[in-house]
Amino acid sequence: MDDSLSAMFATYPWLAPAAAGVFGAILGSFLNVVILRVPAGRSIVTPGSQCGCGAPIAWYDNIPILSWFILRGKARCCGRAYSIRYAAIETVTAALFATCWLVLPPAQAIAGCVMIGGLICATFIDLDHLIIPDGLTIGGALLGLALSVALPAMHGFSSEFWIADALRAAVASLKGVFIGSAAVLWIAILAEAVLKKDAMGFGDVKLVGAIGAFCGWQGALFSIFGGAVVGSLWVAAAWLWRRGGGRRIVPAQTAEGEETELALGVHVPFGPMLAAGAVIYALLARPWVTAYFDGIASLF
Ligand SMILES: [Zn+2]
Repeated sequence: MDDSLSAMFATYPWLAPAAAGVFGAILGSFLNVVILRVPAGRSIVTPGSQCGCGAPIAWYDNIPILSWFILRGKARCCGRAYSIRYAAIETVTAALFATCWLVLPPAQAIAGCVMIGGLICATFIDLDHLIIPDGLTIGGALLGLALSVALPAMHGFSSEFWIADALRAAVASLKGVFIGSAAVLWIAILAEAVLKKDAMGFGDVKLVGAIGAFCGWQGALFSIFGGAVVGSLWVAAAWLWRRGGGRRIVPAQTAEGEETELALGVHVPFGPMLAAGAVIYALLARPWVTAYFDGIASLF
């Protein structure tokens, strides 16, 4: 990095997280487009931002986070209501990007931001449609592998020998893909044998593979079990909320794909839970989880 630039970042330690937050808000606005258009098979590039009535949205009505509040959630052209979810996704992306740069070294922060962008899309597409597109899962795994070679320090390899580091990081990334996917696949096979019905979709298998490409096998395994814990709490809270007369907050489907109420044996999206597990791992739990797995490995 240029000397004056690194001196500036050293003088103002909040500058990099703040810049990452602003970039996250802008990217979050694009993620909203991906979440809306990709499942419908539409281009994410053209046309530019459009209102539901077909009118183009001017740049000054399309400022991430702020425009929703300035317009109070209503379109300027036709007055239709816009969900606060758009502003929420932009805010969450901004907050997570800033957190990456606050708590992680640069290579892990870059990898974390790329992974989080993909996971936010996977989460909301899964909530809306109970599917996760291959572009995000298989595409994410390939991107994670490529990034591992380019930035081996994201897996903790930072010696003087870039080629050796790149090879080690590629191996760590591939182990993450295959151990992570295999673990979900075996859990699905066992659950199917016990419950006599499909417990998990193939999209979840591929999503854990993508998480493993970024976080290694430890991160992939943590996402499955951490995600199951977070998910159980989420589903239990949603069930109580609904029983108390609240709105449905966890979508549920029967095996035939019909919308239904939460109950034992119905399909709920597992992608958001895996994504939550992966974010907790990348931002918080990584040092403890890797130490824990090292401790187990030393027993053998
Ligand atoms: Zn309109």
